[in-house]
Order: sequence, then C-alpha cells, then structure tokens
Amino acid sequence: MRRRLCQTLARSCQQCCRKNNLLVLRELRFRKVEMKKHKYIFVIGGVMSGVGKGVATSALAALLQDKGFGVNTMKVDPYLNVDAGTMNPTEHGEVFVLSSGLETDQDMGNYERFLGRDLGPEDYMTSGMVYKHVIEKERALGYKGKFVEAIPHVTDEIRRRFLLSAEASGSDISVIEIGGTIGDYQNALFIEAARVLKIKNPEDVIFILVSYLPVPGTIGEMKTRPTQNAIRQLNSYGVQPDIIIARGPEALDHKRKEKIAFSCSVPVDNVISAPDIESIYEVPVNFEKDNLSGIVLGLLRLNRRRKNGLKKWKTFVNRLKGAVKAVHIGIVGKYFDTGDFILSDAYISVIEAVKHSAAKLGLKPRLSWLNAKDFEGPNADVSALKNYDGVIVPGGFGETGIAGKLAAIRFVRENKIPYFGLCYGMQLAVIEFARNVLGIKDAHTSEIDPGTANTVIDIMPDQKKIIAEQKYGATMRLGSYPAHLQPGTIARMAYGKEIISERHRHRYEVNPKYITDLEKGGLVFSGRSPDGVLMEIAELPRKKHPFFLGTQFHPEFQARPLSPHPLFTAFLKAAAARRKH
Ligand code: GLN
Repeated sequence: MRRRLCQTLARSCQQCCRKNNLLVLRELRFRKVEMKKHKYIFVIGGVMSGVGKGVATSALAALLQDKGFGVNTMKVDPYLNVDAGTMNPTEHGEVFVLSSGLETDQDMGNYERFLGRDLGPEDYMTSGMVYKHVIEKERALGYKGKFVEAIPHVTDEIRRRFLLSAEASGSDISVIEIGGTIGDYQNALFIEAARVLKIKNPEDVIFILVSYLPVPGTIGEMKTRPTQNAIRQLNSYGVQPDIIIARGPEALDHKRKEKIAFSCSVPVDNVISAPDIESIYEVPVNFEKDNLSGIVLGLLRLNRRRKNGLKKWKTFVNRLKGAVKAVHIGIVGKYFDTGDFILSDAYISVIEAVKHSAAKLGLKPRLSWLNAKDFEGPNADVSALKNYDGVIVPGGFGETGIAGKLAAIRFVRENKIPYFGLCYGMQLAVIEFARNVLGIKDAHTSEIDPGTANTVIDIMPDQKKIIAEQKYGATMRLGSYPAHLQPGTIARMAYGKEIISERHRHRYEVNPKYITDLEKGGLVFSGRSPDGVLMEIAELPRKKHPFFLGTQFHPEFQARPLSPHPLFTAFLKAAAARRKH
C-alpha cells in the first residue's frame, strides 16, 4: 500500500517536474524567440518626392549592418505594375534586376550597393503583386465566401509580405521603404499595414519620416512648416514617427531641430540633419554625426554587437573624394533628350559602377552623355569621340539611335578607343563587326529588322512564342546565369577565374550560325554559357585593340563600392592608359 502510494507520488512528482520543466523550457524558448524577435523600421517620405528616401534607407541599413546586425531592406512600390520590368526607364528610372531575375525599382540597386549583398525577391513588393495575389486567392475560394476588402485582406497580405521578407532573409532587422509621399492615395494601405504591425509588436517597429526643409530663395531661411504638416498628415493615419530625417540644402541648426522636435513631438536628438552632400556614399558617415544608428538601436532596445566604425566604407569614400587623375568617359545612349534629371536615373547602376572602379584606381571620372542620334545622318561627326578616353554603349531596346550607336562603335574600334558594350552594346558591337569587318552589309538584329537575310543577332528560340502571344512581363532571359571564360582573354584575366555568374535581361542573342565566321574574322567569344550555346562576352584581342569588349549580361548590377566590378575596372584602366596626362 505504502509502496503504491510512493509510486503514485513519484509518478505525479515526475509528471509535475516534467510539466514544470516544460514550462521553464517553453518560457526559455519564448524568451529566446522574444530576444530574437525581428525588428522593423519603416521609412516614409514627407513633403515631396525625390529627396533621397532610398539613399537614407540604404545608408541606415549599412550602418546597422556595420554594428553587427543582419539587415535586409525592402522596397514597397505603390504602382499597380506587378514588377518594374514593363516600366519605361525615362519616366521611372532604371529597371534593376535581382539575381533571382525579378525586375525591380532602381532603389533596390542602391540597397544592394550599400549592403554589399544580394537581395531576394521577397524584398520587393508592388501594389500589383499584392492585388494579384489577393484576387487569385479570391478566385480560388481562399477567402471562404467572405467579402474581400482592402482592409483587412489587402493589408494582411502586405503584412504577410513584410514578415516573409524578414523570414526569407534570416536577418535581424528589416528596413522597409514605403514608396511615394504621405498623402498619396496609393501608399495608404502600406502605411496602414505597417501601423497594424506596430500595434501587434509595439516594441519591435519604429517609423522614420524623411522630410524636406526648403530654403526659399527670396526668404533665405530654412522653413520647417511643410515638415510639421507632413507629420500631421502621418498622425492622421495613426502613425507617429520616432525619428525625423531632415533633408535640405543645408545642415539643420539647433534652433530648427528644437522647433521640429517641439512641434512634431519627437525628442530633439531624434531629429537628424541630412544636408545635400557631394556623394551619396558619404550619407552613412554623415548620419553617424547625429548618432542615427545609436538612436535607432536604442528605440529598438538593441545593443550594438560590433564597434566597426565604418572602416572600409570610410576608406572607399576617401578614395572616391581624393581621386584627382581625370578620365573622360562618353556614354552613347538614347534616353538623353529629357534632361539630366532623368538621365542619371535611367543609367544609375552604370554610373555607380564607373565610380566604384574609378575610386579603386584613384581616377576621377567625368561622364558625358552623348545622344546617339547626333551620330546619325549625313552631317554627323563621330570623330568628336577621339576626345574621350573610353566609350560605353549601355543596354537598351528598339530602334531609336541604333545607326548612331553603330557609327560610334565603328569609330572607337577603328581608332582604338577603349569600348565597353553592355547587353545591347555588345549585340551592336557584333553587328558592327559583321558589317564592317566581315563585309556582311545587311547584318542586323531581328529586334529591328526581322526581314534581313543576316540576323547576326536573333531572337532566342524560346522567346518567339512569348513575343507572338504578347506576354511581355517578366519573360525575358532574366537574372543570374553562369558563364565559362576562355583562358588568355581580357575577360578571364579581369575576373581571374573560369566560372562567373552575372545578371541578364534580354530576348536576343548572337545567332549561333554566324559564330564561326565572326571568330574567323578575329572576334573572340571569351565568355559562353556552360553548354556553349549562348555567347556571353565578345572581345577583340589586346594586340588588336586596347579594350574592345561587350557583355550580353549587365555587369553593372553586381558592381559594389567595396567590391568594384572587374570588367569596369579593366575598362577604366585601359581608358586611363589612353589619356595623356
Ligand atoms: N534589346 C536587346 C535584347 O532584348 C538588349 C537588351 C538590353 O540591353 N538589356 O536582347
């Protein structure tokens, strides 16, 4: 009897212990999860667009990464486009291709450059993506007969995507930029989704407002009122910013910081001065002057994990600013009639790639935008190109400016001026070579002249059906593909390895029928797809030309400040060698 009692007691004691242990364990695990809880920083723009919200997001992400955290950035675009692939770069800036092949907004390029790593497809979201998902789910009875409404169904889907990006990246902190400006109808649901995330996780979500403080010429004084109004508008969404980044032509003085702090209900230290500066790469360094990362980590209850002090970053910025040896590069393109404002946006990754390699080589690049149309027609004078140390023909589509680009390529090939062709720039170099070296006068690309007998650049077989059915969205050969490099070539020497991986965005390719003839004529296909079918790089041997090279891919998408792209570096080296100092 006693024994049985003892056994019963022991069993219940065991059970009780196990239960307790489990409780403790569950508690521990919970705390661990709590401690590991993901943090979200939303960056929202006020007053007006185009004041550098993307750069602010990138710079903050770089700072937090520097403090030892895993950081991912996310861009939220309010457009109904499902991705950025169908947008015209003249109006919307460059289409930045991720390694996954997703065609995204140019801000994603800035994020990757500042973070120094690839971002995933989960790190980009458009209204189009969100609505497409919700509507497809509704069609599949996913909402089980309920009304489907903007709130909560669309906002829930947005929130799901915030979480998905955090999870997929495995990072500690997400810095999420909401496109547009407060007050836009289009981005209101994204702000609402962010607000709900904050309500559910009050300690893990903060808001940053990037505002603008104008200095009207006639008044000559920095005005805070537009920022105050922006905050009020944000407040009407139920959101109070934790930090205000005050962009402006000048630094913010203490008086204005106090004024913004008082009228916008934020501590004065949380008002960060962000004046215009020479280079976007200085922005992280500048933010630290106002202790931005310290304030963010404080608000998120995180201790910095590493005291790095942006060492490598500062070295890069010093190199960039310290370079004196000039190199003059001409960029021959077609989006140049709309003025400088658009230009730099349409080719932003190319421009940045040049800057990174130039800084590495101690060169100060000067970029000139040359309208391809100016090289067309009977009175065109391409010989002006001899004043450049190097010429780039970047990617493009369609017929505009093609004759001018071909004339420019012929001139730089014949006059041994360093040439770098990116995607279309490579295809056109092959056409020019076929016409003027092999004598195939009607050589062309079927993108422009499908009727020509000699389509040296032809549509890729699997693209024919896509075009016939007008399925243009996300159907090009997109994203990262490997290529094998031929020993002894400029490309192989620049990369210093045999297998590379680069990002693509094209429908046409070098027609395999012409490869033997092109090679016999002296063109070298130094990079090919692993199966040998697709020509990835074309070049002339160095003894024939100091640098004449084109890539079917877009090297600019993988160029980073701290790891400049080897082909841009090789091109600039050749350009610098041509220049008589
Ligand atoms: N228009 C060309 C193609 O589709 C080149 C594209 C590009 O330059 N990105 O193949």
